[in-house]
Amino acid sequence: MSKTTDDCHVVEGKLALPYQYFAGRTGSRFLISLRDEKKIMGIRCNQCDTVFVPPRQTCERCFADITDNWVDVGTKGTVTGYTIIRYEEPYQPIKPPYILAQIKLDGADTPITHIIKGMPLSKIKTGARVKAIFAKKTTSSIRDIEFFRPTDDKPAFELGYTYEELEVGMSASFTKTISESDVYLFAGISGDFNPMHLNEEFAKLTPFGTRIAHGALPQSLIAPVLGMKLPGLGTVIPELTVRFRKPTYFGDTITATGEVIEKIEKRKWVRMELRWTNQKEELVAEGECLAIPPVPLG
Ligand SMILES: [Zn+2]
Repeated sequence: MSKTTDDCHVVEGKLALPYQYFAGRTGSRFLISLRDEKKIMGIRCNQCDTVFVPPRQTCERCFADITDNWVDVGTKGTVTGYTIIRYEEPYQPIKPPYILAQIKLDGADTPITHIIKGMPLSKIKTGARVKAIFAKKTTSSIRDIEFFRPTDDKPAFELGYTYEELEVGMSASFTKTISESDVYLFAGISGDFNPMHLNEEFAKLTPFGTRIAHGALPQSLIAPVLGMKLPGLGTVIPELTVRFRKPTYFGDTITATGEVIEKIEKRKWVRMELRWTNQKEELVAEGECLAIPPVPLG
């Protein structure tokens, strides 16, 4: 039972309490690797294969002494849990609101707790991918990782359609106008300096009456279709046949089209029909190919 009296006067004050403590053998090594090498180190238990971060001397699952099995667990990880800190306390590392998360680094089996910055509070979710950002100025503490931020883990290249994704009837095209300079460059590439492609006076004597492009020039326009669109990146073409139907004149706009016409289940290949048309919708060439679609990685 307390009783308030008028003569009770409270004086606010602070006591300074400097202290230090030994981080321990494993804790010291962990903090020194952070500070000096910007590496996040864990310890692996050789008996159960668990990698602990932060590191510990004894496996909590099989009680084995695991003191010196250090492994670099990388700087990227996945959020396994989180909370949003909204109240303010003097000991907090940054001003609220902020995200405090459990992050399982890719090489570890146990999560560490740290701050996530660089994403709206409403966007945080378990499964988010994050990476460690190291502090410019060391404090020899866990804050040598200043915070984690979202990582853009998109692959550098998006592979094309796999065999399973391809369906009969899918098609894609590429269009290009064939200019005189294209023909000159192609003559240089192929070594085919036949005057029917390069010399107008000579070409007047041929059945076409004017210069025409090398047949393989419009034909090559199917390469960006097969290799970059359908099936797309990662495709291999083991066989391709072409029948030429009409010449390609300078200035013609050629559209090369590939269409899936058969799925070859046994080999997981597809057969494609190929067509080349000009701006007048005339068939310039037609053919077929076999395509080995990309196989998904991992
Ligand atoms: Zn163990």
